[in-house]
Amino acid sequence: MSRRRSPGIEIVSPEDMLTMRRAGLIVARSLKAMVDAVKPGITTAEVDAIGAECLRQAGATSNFLGHEPGYGVPPFPAVTCCSVNEEVVHGIPGERVLESGDLLSIDFGAVVDGYNGDAARSVLVGEVSAPVANLSQACEKSMWAGIAAARLRGSIGDISAAVERSVRRSGPYGIVRDFVGHGIGHEMHQAPDIPNYGHRAGAAIEVGMCLCIEPMITLGTTRVDVLDDEWTIVTHDRSVSAHWENTITVTKKGLWVLSEEDGGEAKLAELGLPFGPLAD
Ligand code: MG
Repeated sequence: MSRRRSPGIEIVSPEDMLTMRRAGLIVARSLKAMVDAVKPGITTAEVDAIGAECLRQAGATSNFLGHEPGYGVPPFPAVTCCSVNEEVVHGIPGERVLESGDLLSIDFGAVVDGYNGDAARSVLVGEVSAPVANLSQACEKSMWAGIAAARLRGSIGDISAAVERSVRRSGPYGIVRDFVGHGIGHEMHQAPDIPNYGHRAGAAIEVGMCLCIEPMITLGTTRVDVLDDEWTIVTHDRSVSAHWENTITVTKKGLWVLSEEDGGEAKLAELGLPFGPLAD
């Protein structure tokens, strides 16, 4: 059981948090299977098929397939978003063949017993130029900086400020502003919005909130366009973009990264942060 608070932020009970973890774990394992398969010559449709098979084997369903954001946009036709190079997010898998030098961002979600998981990884295909490799690394680093800033009695804005600070320290990257992180639970996208920029303000972080922290940064502009397929978001200047995402929660003991195989334990130890999984 869960309840909704007045600002519309869902609070997940400890029991149901274990279901959120199951969803996150399926997402983590599926993403690993896809990432491991990425090499020059594979198509994005083949990557998507691996994700679909992972869901089938896990007995989970897709929250991406058929997703309708409104405004007359057609339902999303796949279980993964595969966004290549200048594509920021929401790329539709298809017959595109990945080539050495490409940067592929795989965004993937799963539903287990009504609860959602959502995460993304950027993958270097073959030999990738240093600026593109550094872009992905900076994006991943900023995601972890955002995760590290999440603490009880802190605010959502602490996460936003930490992501932005990390990106700025890494280089002159563009932070995409039109798309943001979000709360997650019974719905994949729910309150609160979690921008990847801004000041320390916003809703207080409480036990039971599940948050998707997902920086999208570029080698150029902060501006984006949508392609004629009504889904694919590309950088306005067609510069390369990276995207990393994890679903997290904050327990009384510490952070729990629901969409990492180890719950985030290793990375949190490296960052000197408390690891706070709930026990089965
Ligand atoms: Mg997301």
